[in-house]
Amino acid sequence: MDFINLKRQYLEIEEQLKAMTEDIFRNARFIMGKEVKELEEKLAGFIGTKYCISCASGTDALLIPLMAWGIGKGDAVFVPSFTFFASAEAPALLGATPIFVDSDENSYNIDARKLEEAISNVKKEGKLAPKAIIPVDLFGRPADMEKVREIAKRENLLVLEDGCQGFGGNIEGKKACSFGDVAATSFFPAKPLGCYGDGGAIFTDSGEIYEKMLSIRVHGQGSDKYDYVRLGLNGRLDTIQAAVLLCKMNIFENELKERTRVASRYIKNLKGVLETPLMDEKYFSSWAQFTCKAESEEERKRIIEGLKGKDIPTAIYYPIPLHKQTAFSNSKAYCDLHISEELGKRVFSLPMHPYLKDEEIDLISEEIRRIVAK
Ligand SMILES: *Cc1c(COP(=O)(O)O)cnc(C)c1O
Repeated sequence: MDFINLKRQYLEIEEQLKAMTEDIFRNARFIMGKEVKELEEKLAGFIGTKYCISCASGTDALLIPLMAWGIGKGDAVFVPSFTFFASAEAPALLGATPIFVDSDENSYNIDARKLEEAISNVKKEGKLAPKAIIPVDLFGRPADMEKVREIAKRENLLVLEDGCQGFGGNIEGKKACSFGDVAATSFFPAKPLGCYGDGGAIFTDSGEIYEKMLSIRVHGQGSDKYDYVRLGLNGRLDTIQAAVLLCKMNIFENELKERTRVASRYIKNLKGVLETPLMDEKYFSSWAQFTCKAESEEERKRIIEGLKGKDIPTAIYYPIPLHKQTAFSNSKAYCDLHISEELGKRVFSLPMHPYLKDEEIDLISEEIRRIVAK
């Protein structure tokens, strides 16, 4: 059994993709071919923002807006500790200080009350200037954006939504990747919308920041190709990857429905057996991961090994919260972070993709039930 089955998905887009890539190869339009612009327009339309910029990865999609805002040394950027490394790596690369915030034990997303506590403590200390918040739509579930935005407005902070896992989700119909002043997403193959390599995109409604980010994407270009007005990156998305994404966009809505089917069935099957992720009316998840919580670290080990014995793969996202990572060993705590540590010990993710069959979900659920009952 596969954790994510991209082979079944390929069959859905094979014909269209072969025709599109053949055309790109024949015409040698590898960099900034027309498919790139076409994709950006389609993505902006899907999310409902004025602008979209495609780029080379989700990490670049976080880095580029922070660069455009001029975030750097002496700035505090608030980010959850329980997330993928890149959420905090991006501000740290620019010399800013990531301030780690704890997560809610049920939604796995940034805890708004602890965010307020961390902001207040940074201000009290007076050494760093609070500049931005990076809420993460972890495992596909949008963060509590209403509260985050309210806090950001009151504290005069910028919001960079890390929607690298959230693309396809929504809060009461308003799409994930539309909540931040800027939002970032990733098209890494395992994400809800993935390409066949690395890729990412940035969303915003601000024309001013859009222009700056366009320039940063290509070495800080000015009005002319060899005129450079700032430092930037080589951050473009390949034409071939844009073609893959255009093909996958055609089946994406249906895939979201299928992911919801898989999640609903797991939740129904595992009721009373295991803590399954939240599913409610207000927050629609893109189900980037289906992440459960075992009663203890030992119980998790037992479940994972039991499933492995039946050739059922699992994964742990994320065993070590960021404030405990070697790369951030000099970081200081500005709020309590024990939920992140607890989650690192107890969470594990089950196979999740749109092509998972009902029989497979039932088989996995039954195995878990057996292991837990022992
Ligand atoms: C995947 C991911 C990223 C980075 O995306 P890449 O495309 O791998 O650079 C950043 N943040 C989160 C939450 C992610 O899941």
